Amino acid sequence: MKPIIALALHGGAGPIRNSDTTREEQHLGELLTVGEAALLAGASALDVVEQMVQALEEAGLYVAGRGSSPNCQGEFELDASIMDGAKRSAGAVCALHGFVSPITVARAVMERTPHVMLAGAGAMLFAAEQGMQTITDPATHFTPISRASANTNELAHGTVGCVALDAQGHLAAGTSTGGVLNKLPGRVGDTPLIGAGTWADERVAVSCTGQGEYFIRAAVAADVSARMAYGGASVDAASAGALADMQRQGGDGGLIAIDRQGHVSMPYISHGMRRAARHGDGRKEVGVFR
Ligand code: ASP
Repeated sequence: MKPIIALALHGGAGPIRNSDTTREEQHLGELLTVGEAALLAGASALDVVEQMVQALEEAGLYVAGRGSSPNCQGEFELDASIMDGAKRSAGAVCALHGFVSPITVARAVMERTPHVMLAGAGAMLFAAEQGMQTITDPATHFTPISRASANTNELAHGTVGCVALDAQGHLAAGTSTGGVLNKLPGRVGDTPLIGAGTWADERVAVSCTGQGEYFIRAAVAADVSARMAYGGASVDAASAGALADMQRQGGDGGLIAIDRQGHVSMPYISHGMRRAARHGDGRKEVGVFR
């Protein structure tokens, strides 16, 4: 039997009203093709997740990596996390300044330290010791995409994420963000928190996007897995249930999830969510709105 692979990407569920999303959709579609080819050629879910999130950070089209929003002091503090479902290992960084790829630093935390998360000055010290690529000129590196939204009443935020199932049946998830526009210095959202913004185990891989404070209080990413494990829910039912619980607290956003059989779920309760998927049965989809 041919091994099943599956892949899903998101470019955030932040404010998208009235904007032209052609470039994002084209970019997500291109990345999907690259990621699918890598998985079909036998790449690990973990490698593909890192590669996809790195490319999303680099694009400057989403509120992560180059496209990140500044905090209220005009500084860029980035958060990211990655989880390897097969080993149940995880790495994360938060309030990271000055490095090009937070997801790559998060993976290094996972693989080269006994810890799961490094914050602020410690994360920067570690990234420098590991020789991670630094940002030489923040003024030219960052191209914040949320400035245009700063005058709206909506909380301008965004994130990128990826979940993958590889031919060995292993799942992985990764998420990276610049957080919310005008956040307080030191504010950390759900994105780097394992169990809130990111989760992967032997059952499911999940990456979330939305108002982080609500995702933290509902432990959304781990809740998807718990609903499947304890309640026998499908990935669709578990994802919708976890999101609905978060919505009841007043938040909005969405998530992408893949189960072991290659079923992809991409629910959102926001106006739209930039997303793309290659389902286990080979179907592909790219979209922003319903
Ligand atoms: N969840 C992210 C945060 O709160 C933002 C987003 O996904 O749009 O930092």
